[in-house]
Parts: sequence; C-alpha cells; structure tokens
Amino acid sequence: MNYNNIDFDTYLKNYPDKAGFFGKYGGSFIPPELQNAMNEITDAYYSISKSRKFIAELRRIRKEFQGRPTPISHLERLSSQFGNVQLYVKREDLNHTGAHKLNHCMGEALLAKYMGKKKVIAETGAGQHGVALATAAAYFGLECDIYMGAVDIKKQAPNVARMKILGANVIEVTHGLQTLKEAVDAAFEAYCNEYKDAIYCIGSVVGPHPFPMMVRDFQSVVGIEAREQFIEMTGELPDAVVACVGGGSNAMGIFSGFLNDPVDIYGIEPLGRGEKLGDHAASLTYGSEGIMHGFNSIMLKDENGEPAPVYSVASGLDYPSSGPEHAFLHDLGRVKYDTVNDDDTIDAFYTLSRLEGIIPAIESSHAVAYGIKLAQQMEKGSVLINLSGRGDKDMDYIIEKYGIR
Ligand SMILES: *Cc1c(COP(=O)(O)O)cnc(C)c1O
Repeated sequence: MNYNNIDFDTYLKNYPDKAGFFGKYGGSFIPPELQNAMNEITDAYYSISKSRKFIAELRRIRKEFQGRPTPISHLERLSSQFGNVQLYVKREDLNHTGAHKLNHCMGEALLAKYMGKKKVIAETGAGQHGVALATAAAYFGLECDIYMGAVDIKKQAPNVARMKILGANVIEVTHGLQTLKEAVDAAFEAYCNEYKDAIYCIGSVVGPHPFPMMVRDFQSVVGIEAREQFIEMTGELPDAVVACVGGGSNAMGIFSGFLNDPVDIYGIEPLGRGEKLGDHAASLTYGSEGIMHGFNSIMLKDENGEPAPVYSVASGLDYPSSGPEHAFLHDLGRVKYDTVNDDDTIDAFYTLSRLEGIIPAIESSHAVAYGIKLAQQMEKGSVLINLSGRGDKDMDYIIEKYGIR
C-alpha cells in the first residue's frame, strides 16, 4: 500500500534508516562517551537479533513463560449497545506481569545475555517498566539496577516491593524534583560508567537509536498475532485499530501489523484535565518538533523550550514526548492521533469492568474510551482495541479518588 509516497509493503525494513531516522525524527543526540556504548548495542542488535538461535529462544520464552499468544476477545455485551459495530480487544493484560512491557523487556534482557553482559540498568516512574525488567533479569540471572525518584518510591510502594522481591536493586534518586526525569539522568550516568558490564534498557519506543526500532520490533509480535487472530475469528480485517500512546510502545506493537492494510489507525493521547499546557500529556496533538532524552520528535515545551510539565490520570502516559516513529506517522497522516480526557477514561474503566469482566489499566482505558466513541459514530464495522494492561495496579487509586460507581 502506498501512502503519501511511502511504500508500506517495505516500510518496516526501510524505517528507521541506518542512523535511526524516521524522516526527520529519531536519531541519536547524546554525549560521545555514551554514543560508543549505543553503537555497541546497535551492532549487537543488528547481528544477534537476526540469528536463528536468538529468534528461536525468544519464541520459546514467549510461549512458555510469557503466555503468548495472548487472545483477542470479542466484547459482546458492550457491542450489543451499538447495533452493527463490533468491538474486540487484544489481551496484552494477560501477558505475565499484566502488561505489554514484558514483550520488550524479555527481548532486551535476552540481548544482554547474548552480549555477555551481567547487568541491566533502567529508570522507572510508576514502576511498571522496573517490574517488567526486574522479572526479565530474574529469569535470565542478570543483575538489575532500577533508578527511581524518591517521590515515586513513596507513591509506588507495591511496585517497589515487587522489584525488591524479584531481586532488583532499587536506587533512590534524591536530587531535583526526585521523579522520572531525574531518574533518567541518574540511570544514564550510571550506564556511562558501567557500559562494559551492563546494558541500558529503555521502557518504550523512545530514546536514542536503536531503542525506538528495537522496542518496536520486540513489540511487533502484538500486531502480527492480532492480524492473524482477527482474520481467523471474523474472516476479515478490522475497520479500525486503536491504542493508547504514552511513549508509544504498545501502540507501535499493534500498529505495525496493520500499516500496510486498508485499516484506520488511531493513537490516543491523554487529555487529562483539559487543553491547557500542564493539564494534559497529549504531545503529538499539541506539541512541536524538538530534541529531548537523546532523540528528535514532537514534544510539549515550556516557554524556555524545555520539556513542559505534563499531567494524566494514567502515570504510564505521563510523558512530554512520544516516540519518533509516531511523530513520523503523524506527519504522514497514516495514523490519526486524538485525545481522551480523564473523566471519559474512568467511565470506560468501569464500563469494561462491568460489562465484560475485564478490569483494564487506566492507560488502556483511554483506548477503550476512544473505541466506544468510534462505535457510536460508525454505522457498521469492527474496532480492535489494544488492551495494553490490566488494572489491578490502579484499583486502590480509583476507589479512593472516584469511589465505586
Ligand atoms: C507503560 C504502559 C503504557 C504506556 O507505554 P507505551 O510505551 O505508550 O505503550 C500503556 N499501558 C500500560 C498498561 C502500561 O503499563
């Protein structure tokens, strides 16, 4: 399929280019000492990930440890409200550890093992990436250092406990605002000093090359499975595919399976409390081009051009930029990016729980809310929603803030 002069038959092979660019977005904007370490990861990824042994081992792990393939569920009771529109969810909530993040963490940690590294390093905000990586590290017998702001450590006690039980070192970061941004800085600094023995594992399709490509490739299993399963279930392709976008990894996973199909694709950003800067984290919808955390993309900036403060009820979507590939697909018009606010998200959280017996993550509830909106507008057809994770982690917060509906 051709779209704005891009041939989507060969798209995944051609993008990013060798330097990690998707059009003008992506690349690697980091200090030279870190660039050497990144080059080592890039070279290893290009050679090791193509080896039969690596691919076979990752396949076996996905099947025997992660619980893949995850199913697609038809939302029958919800769909019955919309006449001729059928809604479906791809069940990444049924992945071991409860979200799609394990898809790339197992890949990154397997790469670390093949590179002969002893340790994986990462930062975490809400703790979801930290838990997934700590799980992968325990599986492969790697050491695991997770950098986390002191404020987040207090807020996310259950995830901190999980990481520690899994054997990870949770390293408290006590400078600045003591949240995610400082944790990123501290983890990068540690990696600069330890790159001989360690690899850095980014938690989404963000950061310098090769991470946006590598994380997308590891997540693409979601789209490959979903396309096959959907056709097997219904005999045709879905009319629309929907996913929430924070950094954008679960979205790139499912989107990559449908880019070359006549399917409308929607990436949903968090509108939080409203359109004012600081009240949302809808970077592709309201942002502009800029470089942060080592890559060029579309980001939300304050008046000094620095990353703006952002807000969302979903801590996993609370990031002032998105992966460079999303910026590229946004400009091409191949993916439509739109927003859902906190209130509609919480409604969708309860709707899916009550009508279908599935408690979704608040992040994923953004995509569910948008899927419902699409169904209300469409006369007939089908919508496939990526259910990126389960909502167990969010239940206490929702009951405290919104009460039982
Ligand atoms: C972390 C997380 C997200 C956001 O990350 P992406 O890279 O945008 O996918 C979405 N859903 C869940 C359940 C998460 O844990």
